[in-house]
Amino acid sequence: MAAQPKKKISRVRGKTRRAHRRAVLPKLVACAKCKTLKLPHTICPECGHYGKVKVIKTKLDRKIDKTLNKPVSPGDNSGKTPVKNEKTPKKTDNGNRV
Ligand SMILES: [Zn+2]
Repeated sequence: MAAQPKKKISRVRGKTRRAHRRAVLPKLVACAKCKTLKLPHTICPECGHYGKVKVIKTKLDRKIDKTLNKPVSPGDNSGKTPVKNEKTPKKTDNGNRV
C-alpha cells in the first residue's frame, strides 16, 4: 500500500503544479531538397532524401516505376477507358410501388 499524504493539497496548489504539463508541438525543419517541413534528423517522407542523399523510395517513386515498367499486352484494356459498344441493361423499374 502506498504512503498516504499528510495533508490535503488544495485545488489551486495542484493545478499550479500541473500548469507546466502540456502538449508541445514538435520542432520542424525544412527539407534540404523539397523544402517541406519534417522532423529533424529524419528521412523526408515526401521526397525520401536525408540531407541531399536519396535514401528511400517514396510511394510516388514506386507508382512511377510501376507505370513505366508495366508490360503492355495487346488484349489488356486495364487502366484505359471502358469499351463503349458494350450494352448495359437499362433500368426501367424506378422503385415506385404499384
Ligand atoms: Zn524532402
